[in-house]
Amino acid sequence: MAGQAEQDYFPADYASGRTHFRKAAAARGFALTAYLNPHAKGPAGEDLTTDVAIWGDRAAEQALLIMSGTHGVEGYAGSGCQLGFLNDPGFANPPRGLRIVLIHAINPYGFAWNRRVNEDNVDLNRNFVDHSVRKALHPGYEVLKDAIAPAQLDAKSEAAADAALAAYAREHGVFALQEAITQGQYAYPGGLYFGGAFETWSAGLLKHLLRREFASCGRVAIVDVHTGLGPYGYGELITEEPKSSGAYARARRWWGDTVLSTKNGESVSADVTGSVDGAFAQNLLHADVTACCLEYGTYATHEVFKALRADNWLHLHGDPLRQDAKEIKAQIRRAFYPDCEDWKELVWARARSVFAQAIDGLMEP
Ligand SMILES: [Zn+2]
Repeated sequence: MAGQAEQDYFPADYASGRTHFRKAAAARGFALTAYLNPHAKGPAGEDLTTDVAIWGDRAAEQALLIMSGTHGVEGYAGSGCQLGFLNDPGFANPPRGLRIVLIHAINPYGFAWNRRVNEDNVDLNRNFVDHSVRKALHPGYEVLKDAIAPAQLDAKSEAAADAALAAYAREHGVFALQEAITQGQYAYPGGLYFGGAFETWSAGLLKHLLRREFASCGRVAIVDVHTGLGPYGYGELITEEPKSSGAYARARRWWGDTVLSTKNGESVSADVTGSVDGAFAQNLLHADVTACCLEYGTYATHEVFKALRADNWLHLHGDPLRQDAKEIKAQIRRAFYPDCEDWKELVWARARSVFAQAIDGLMEP
């Protein structure tokens, strides 16, 4: 059988992901635009862009949006799924009237540097808030802030931080610890899951693209690819819609019972603030939006957390370009991208059916 093996879809780094994406999109006849991030460069001083590939008419009634790299380093999986979409014969002939928009590396800094955050140390998936309003801080985050983002990361400091987190989990439960850490915070710019004090370049670009590229679409399906939560290789479809909503019912009809909401405590994710989901709703008011985050599990939550904590320490208190930073950079890359064939096979197989189901759902009479 001809064609590319699924492991070949997944890039070695941001730059090769971008190159393969642009080449495949051009070969398929997609229109390409590169948006240069004026605030950041890559590790070798290279330019960083978000690349957008578009198929179909702006006046289309139905549109599918597939996004990668909201959380930078999670872009290996997202870029791979987008390349799969562009290469798979099953998607070679989209239904008439369907518009397709692929946003590659909406947070190119994070992808290029192997970071979950952007150039401002901001979690883009917590950045969509009204920055003029003061936000409450989760009391658990306040208690644990020095364990979440310690200024030192020698063995003794790390052990003390781990002990504080374990004590919190014993008292309040493991999911409560996850909530405290990941809900999103706006008080500590040097901490984790910091939602920012202003609208980031990536957030502004996404809002612009939503308003511009889907202005006349009545139905929009969105799949934003993430990694780092859940069982190894399993892709959970996460929605922020409550069970009572029409969007939740629609997502369930399209994708089945694998759609889980953060509003009911059924998802692997905590209910978070300022996510991209809010941006979809606010910027596509005229459309029926069916949006899911496709979240692939990698390794145990505490391992992923330790990788994030070490990376945060490295960029705030160390030097990411020094030779001894390599171990930490490898640790965070692996935490969000198990570079193994079995994982990639699972990721692409799941994405393939999620994309096909989204198209079927969009084209429902
Ligand atoms: Zn993510």
